[in-house]
Amino acid sequence: MPLLPDLTGRIALVTGASRGIGAAIALALAEAGADVAVNYRQRFAEAESVAASVTAIGRRAITIAADVSDSTAVAAMVANMTSRLGAPDILVNNAGIALIRGIDDLTEADFDQTIAVNLKSVFLCTHAVLPHMRAQNWGRIVNISSGAARGAGGVGLHYNASKAGVEGVTRGYAARLVKQGITVNAVAPSLIETDMVKAGLASSAARIPLGRFGTSEEVAQVVVMLIGNAYMTGQTVALSGGMAFN
Ligand code: NAP
Repeated sequence: MPLLPDLTGRIALVTGASRGIGAAIALALAEAGADVAVNYRQRFAEAESVAASVTAIGRRAITIAADVSDSTAVAAMVANMTSRLGAPDILVNNAGIALIRGIDDLTEADFDQTIAVNLKSVFLCTHAVLPHMRAQNWGRIVNISSGAARGAGGVGLHYNASKAGVEGVTRGYAARLVKQGITVNAVAPSLIETDMVKAGLASSAARIPLGRFGTSEEVAQVVVMLIGNAYMTGQTVALSGGMAFN
């Protein structure tokens, strides 16, 4: 058995892949041999740049704009991908938002938007890719959670709730799909140096025992490891520079 994942011939969909952790995951999957669909919400130029980097590695790539919290947009995204690149064998649910709010300034709209983008999207995207994965008895799904699913976090309780929910649906899908050759796992990073962290949590590096933020590539490495492993499902792998232990 090859110890390093060979994803040659596999087709991956990475949500929120125009920048940050998602972009690093798209490139790592391409390095492992996969063709990649780069989903994004608004940042067309950044998404095109990620796709160009995938192509430079020698894999096929497309970009697809879609709001992953919208069921119609998600169904159209997967149909578009299937006709242009092929149906997804691998799904990485990475798209997310982090609206920093305290208890008293958190609004109902903030709460609903966070649950829709961070949690409902996992259900919508998984639902859209499952028919193909089930038909071929093979699939890999990785959901990007956060240390905030179990810890205090610095964003707010709405974000805690959305990421705890991501880990719940990860276990729920894993239990129901294991007999069909589909694994579902989560990765829970804490404080990775991306736009999300630079926007509001930049002073937090002092909280990390390792003494620095994590990199998007370190998260991508764990995602590729999970995709390469057929026996591991329903798990959350945390990486936090020593801040938190599951
Ligand atoms: P980021 O730099 O802010 O990038 C967010 C990505 O998600 C962008 O590609 C963005 O697209 C996309 N996106 C946002 N809303 C979307 C929507 N409704 N539909 C489709 N795409 C959408 O974030 P990041 O730091 O890389 O975070 C990626 C994931 O890791 C998130 O789920 C986040 O919660 C999680 N996470 C991050 C950290 C951290 O320390 N950075 C820690 C724990 C967990 P556009 O570029 O088009 O806007």
